[in-house]
Order: sequence, then structure tokens, then C-alpha cells
Amino acid sequence: MNNMNPKSLIVIFGATGDLAKRKLFPSIYKLYQKGKLTEEFAVVGVARRPLSHEEFRSYVRQSVEDSTSQELKSDTFISHFYYHSLDVTSTASYQELKSLLERLDEAYNVPGNRIFYLAMAPEFFGTITAHLKSEGLTATNGWKRLVIEKPFGHDLKTAQQLNQEIRKAFSEKEIFRIDHYLGKEMVQNIEVIRFANAIFEPLWNNRFIANIQITSSETLGVEDRGRYYDHSGALRDMVQNHMLQMVALLAMEPPIKLTTDEIRSEKVKVLRALRPIAHDEVEQYFVRGQYGKGIVKGKEVVGYREENNVDPNSNTETFVAGKLMIDNFRWAGVPFYIRTGKRMTEKSTKIVVQFKDVPMNLYYRTSETISPNLLVIHIQPDEGITLHLNAKKSGETMKTTPIKLDYCNNCIDGINTPEAYEKLLYDCMRGDATNFTHWDEVAASWSFIDPISEVWENTKAADFPNYEAGSMGPKAADELLKKDGFYWWPIHYNGL
Ligand code: NAP
Repeated sequence: MNNMNPKSLIVIFGATGDLAKRKLFPSIYKLYQKGKLTEEFAVVGVARRPLSHEEFRSYVRQSVEDSTSQELKSDTFISHFYYHSLDVTSTASYQELKSLLERLDEAYNVPGNRIFYLAMAPEFFGTITAHLKSEGLTATNGWKRLVIEKPFGHDLKTAQQLNQEIRKAFSEKEIFRIDHYLGKEMVQNIEVIRFANAIFEPLWNNRFIANIQITSSETLGVEDRGRYYDHSGALRDMVQNHMLQMVALLAMEPPIKLTTDEIRSEKVKVLRALRPIAHDEVEQYFVRGQYGKGIVKGKEVVGYREENNVDPNSNTETFVAGKLMIDNFRWAGVPFYIRTGKRMTEKSTKIVVQFKDVPMNLYYRTSETISPNLLVIHIQPDEGITLHLNAKKSGETMKTTPIKLDYCNNCIDGINTPEAYEKLLYDCMRGDATNFTHWDEVAASWSFIDPISEVWENTKAADFPNYEAGSMGPKAADELLKKDGFYWWPIHYNGL
């Protein structure tokens, strides 16, 4: 098999849903446009509603045209799409799907390679994978892979149950658990910045780093996801997966090789080294918030409890800030602060590495303040790196001024950063699981998160709503850092 142009059938369960429309079809199109898919592939959309192949194709066409803002001139790409209406519990329905896949293998010269992408509610995963096995869809001559969307469980126990179910039909190596943050260009860049630069790695430890801050803020509210979100909350929706994955990449030891297994094994060690938080310590390390009404981007918006499909007395958090300690030699004593929330001032994901001050500052006498050195990794929407340094203020004797060295990834002409889903789909087709989460990572993350969610579920937050929509979260999130002598670096920090 040519590994750069993998031949496969992609079966998307939930093909009429939001994820497929907004992310999956446009990503498959981009891969095709870039020549990463040859003509030897087919996509089978699976969902409940009855649709003909033709109706499905025009649905896919619309999704691609919406995302590219261009008309699809040819039918060649769209002709690779097929549709199968499925009742998830009917054996006959899987048998029909099996025959369709066999016909498509033949028609597109695909040697039995199959991706089963479950873009559906997780309660169906066990039933679907059991039927894929019992009806022989996984008994193929080529490879078979299962792609699973978040959330992977609701806590450690339910994640274990889900894992046991899917493992009956797929081995761990065949399971690709999506964390789309791992497909983002600058998240993937964390490893390169750390391990390819002689100037950072020697400083990347508790002797030189004062703290690390990770912020992932959204301006949107829950939109139409109220039903799901009200049972999930920011801790499960963002922290258990995306935020902890970024912590792991920032804190891991250099892997001995850049292979999937070596990288994952270093990440798992970080997650295992997270200082566990006991029930009675949650308040000391974590802050929860829920947005009230306010103004976002000049528009008045309602509070979380007034949103559609949300309990008017909801105790669900839409904001989390936390202090994580990694108890190992490299990081002992260095707080990793994380915060994430909905309806915040701005949409932004950023990492700020704050270095310790120089041992003796000669310039305090001549400057009012001297800024700490910061390395800022901009994940989204802007992508790049900024290094904050101090230099001499020109003209005036020996006064310092903060300066910035900036690298902007998506500012350079010609660099059109691929969407996370495009990269992850391509990785999956090539069998590269590095940027997907291994079960050990999922289990370690839930073990860390569970005590916090248990306390939050069982104690009503008396002060909810405790932050105004359009703000950077509750005051308590600032206090969390203040007690350690730090503060959150503003999103657009330009020097003190
Ligand atoms: P969605 O818009 O609600 O779509 C659900 C899909 O599942 C539809 O295609 C629906 O088909 C199908 N379906 C529902 N019940 C079915 C049944 N009994 N038999 C067969 N098909 C059935 O959901 P989504 O937003 O795309 O999300 C899908 C998954 O991705 C979820 O696990 C979600 O948590 C995850 N996810 C989504 C996003 C996102 O941006 N949307 C981001 C991250 C993760 P019919 O309409 O024909 O019934």
C-alpha cells in the first residue's frame, strides 16, 4: 500500500449530523483536492433518515460548497459518496451495509481497508461496534479502524464500560479516539518548539519556569447543545480532554523516539504524576463559574440558566480554572494554571510560559518595572509564538523596555493551516495514532477529574451565576493565582 495515498472506505455513522456537515465532508474534500486521496476511496454516510445516494450527494456538495464558499464544478469527488439508512439495532441493516461495502471495495479497488467513524451520540457506540463484529463488517482482508468522538465516558467508570464494549470488536491499536485539539497545528508545534530548540529545553523545568498558564476561552454560549452540555459542563467537555492533553504535551519528558508509542508513554507519565485532588481540597485548587447575562462583542446575551434546554436552576459550570501540580523531578513546585469557559471576552487559546526572574536584577533601580520573560504559544485563532524579552530603552541610559519577538504562522502568505479534522482523518487513514488519545491517557485523565466533578455535583454553587457574559470569568479565578503571587497574563499582553 502506498502509505501517502491510502486506499480506504470511510463509513461515517451520523452522516446527516452537524459534525459530518461542518467538519468531516469539508476535510475529506480538502484531502482529495490536495491529492492525498487518490480516486481509490469511497465514503458511506450512515444515519437514520431515509435518503437516496443522490440526495446524500447533494447534501455533501452543499456542505463542501458552504465551507469553501466555492461552487463544486465537477461531480467526480461527490460520486465517491454513498448512503445507507441504518436502524442501529437491526442485524439486517448491517448485513445490507456489509454488501454495500463489499461492492465498493470491488468498484474502487480498495483492499478491504475500512474506517468506521462514529459521529453519533456515545450511547450507540457499544451497539454499533457489537453489530459491526457480529455481522462480519470487521472481518475484512485489509485493516479496520474505529474513530470515536468525544465524550469518551462521563467519568472513569462509564469510560471503562465504553472501552470494554468497543474493545470486543477493535483492538486498542485500531481505536482512534479523537481529541481535535491534537490536530491543531500549534498544539502539534509544542513538541517541536520544545525538542528542536537548544535554547528552550535546558530551561524547561522548575529551576527556570515560574508557572505555565493555559487559557481556552470562547465567546459562544451553549448554542443548541444545552441538553448535552447541562449534563456535562466545562470540566468534562474541555478539561478532561483538551486542557489535560495540552498540559501533557508541555510537561512530558523528551521521548526516546518520535513514535506513537514513545510519545504516548511520556504523556501518560505526566497524567499519572498529576497531584491527585482530594474531595476536601477541590476548593483550594479549582474554581467553577457559570455565566450570567452580559454583553459579548457589543451584543446583549442571556445568562446560562436562560438558554434553551438548560435547567433554570442549573448547577452546571460553564467555566473552570484550576491549579495543577505535577509531582515529578522536572516540575515539582511549578503550578500549571488552566482556565476555560464559555461567553468570555474573546475566543482564544493560548499558552503562556512564565520564566523566573533573573537572580539579581540590576535594573530595578533605573526602571519602574521589569517584565518576566514569557514564551507565548498562540493556538487559535491566531497561530504563532511570541517571546517577551527586555531590552534597553533607546536613548535613555540603562532603562529597560519590554520587546517582543513574534512569529505568526497563519500570517505568512501561502500557509493555509489545515483544519484539525483534515489532519486527523489523514493520520487515521495512514494508521498514525500519535495524535489520538490512548486508553491509558483517557483513564488517567478521568481519575484526576472524577473527585472534582463528584464534589461539584454534590454541592450546589451558591454564587451561580458568578461571572458576567463577556468577562474573563469569576473573580475567584484571579484569586487562585494571586495567592501564589501570580496573575493571568492578558490575552493581548504587550509588555508591562
Ligand atoms: P447530531 O448533529 O445530533 O447528529 C447525530 C447523527 O446521528 C445524525 O446523523 C442522526 O441521523 C444520527 N442518529 C441519531 N440517532 C440515530 C439512530 N438511532 N440510528 C442511526 N442514526 C442515528 O450530532 P453531532 O453534533 O454531529 O455530534 C456527533 C458526535 O460527535 C457526538 O458524539 C458529539 O458529542 C461529537 N462531537 C460533535 C462536535 C460538533 O462540532 N458537532 C464536536 C465534537 C464532538 P438522523 O438525523 O438521520 O436521525
